[in-house]
Amino acid sequence: MMMDALAASMKIRKAVELNPAPTGELVDFLSGADEALANEAFRALLRLNPLAALQERWTNDSPVTGLRGEGVPDWIMESCGGWGEDGDLTDLLVAKLGRMDQSRVNGFLERLAGFDGAKRELYKRLRRKGRPGLAGKFARAVSARSGRQYPGQISISPTMFCQLHCEYCVSAGIDEELSSEIPLDTMFDLLGWARERGVRRIGFTGGEPTTYSGFTSVLEKIGELGLEFFMATNGLIPAEKMEAIINARPLCVTMHLTPEVMESGSIRAFTHNARRFREAGVYVILRCNFTSADDDPAPFVRFAHEAGIHEIRVAVPVPNENRVNTFIPQGSLSDFGLLLSGLVDMAAAKRVAVMLSKPFPICKLPEDKARYFIANGSMSNSCPVHLAGFSNNLIVYSDLTFSPCLGLNVRSEKDIRQFRGTRQAARVFKGRVKSFIRKPLLAECGGCPLYPGGRCIGACLSYRDAPGAKVS
Ligand code: SF4
Ligand code: SF4
Repeated sequence: MMMDALAASMKIRKAVELNPAPTGELVDFLSGADEALANEAFRALLRLNPLAALQERWTNDSPVTGLRGEGVPDWIMESCGGWGEDGDLTDLLVAKLGRMDQSRVNGFLERLAGFDGAKRELYKRLRRKGRPGLAGKFARAVSARSGRQYPGQISISPTMFCQLHCEYCVSAGIDEELSSEIPLDTMFDLLGWARERGVRRIGFTGGEPTTYSGFTSVLEKIGELGLEFFMATNGLIPAEKMEAIINARPLCVTMHLTPEVMESGSIRAFTHNARRFREAGVYVILRCNFTSADDDPAPFVRFAHEAGIHEIRVAVPVPNENRVNTFIPQGSLSDFGLLLSGLVDMAAAKRVAVMLSKPFPICKLPEDKARYFIANGSMSNSCPVHLAGFSNNLIVYSDLTFSPCLGLNVRSEKDIRQFRGTRQAARVFKGRVKSFIRKPLLAECGGCPLYPGGRCIGACLSYRDAPGAKVS
């Protein structure tokens, strides 16, 4: 039995290298009772089918075959061919549903809900095939999954102050007024406002959130209100605040390893804190930015490995809301693609996963790494700013004004508490962010099957707002 499972697993791994790929066989494994093999088949199908893997950011049903593909790598054009036609992946999945034992249908529908880019096509196909009941069940599975993945949330910058001065950071050149702190009673009021409006999850960011004088009290308040939280930090956290964070049981802590810390004595405090979090069972993500195509990924991988961290999130720099931080020229994107590829290889050797924390043009990555990032969710999840009516990444500053996210230069004039809820607040900037999402990054996007529907947005949307950032 064990040998059968091993042979099947090898077969699935080999399947992703075959041309044409045996999609039907992978669908059989996906519908099978063996959970491990089904998961492996799911990842293989994501890797092979960018259109099924990458979420749509807007609705677009123009035929994939109508696109020219000039300047777009062949593998992208080939992987997207036939989408929406009979015999595509969604067709095979729907046919499989029709042949399944009824007792297994619900479980299979839940698996299908994980195909972020195929949800709409699967729903339409089920209805077209005369299965409205199954289509309804599928829609409910999708909605339940999305509720788990993206519960109501806001992020808060209790201060934009940070002890470090990284020139690529969004807080570079930030207004004085935003460096001031939220008064503690106002912070409590904000948390209460959020809780009453269905927010379940709070993100703390900055500046450096742990420099906020009331940080420990805020963590206690979060617990009292039954909220969950995650946070980003530069890792230079004093001991008493470390213990407060650990006791408050964060969902995860993203530790940003900056050049300023790496090249100074502060690395000792950073390392100590990373280990302390790990010992206490906190899920730690190591965050790094590449600011030059000549950067060396090795120290990040070494650090993650030595500190017992299993996930690195990486970004290439983007312009900040004040446009004073450095960002990369578009002509160097392929060089950064190779750098990311090197990072993935080095990290894989140490069993560390790499995710993108900002989008990156899929066409500027070597094919194997592009498929790696497509399958691990990086390309969909690195910019979820449009989710929940454009409120998913909403960030509230110390003066209670807010933006769609940390990177975009779109800020409300009003205190967020003047709105009925986060979705109503997000309406202030929804139209503007929508227009950024639809603005192609590169000249070749117009002929690329990943552009319609916004499956690939190429880079953080703040590029769209920077003069001269688009290559045409
Ligand atoms: S536009 Fe997207 S990628 Fe850029 S900062 Fe906002 S959420 Fe992140
Ligand atoms: S949409 Fe644009 S950036 Fe993305 S893969 Fe296609 S051509 Fe490249």
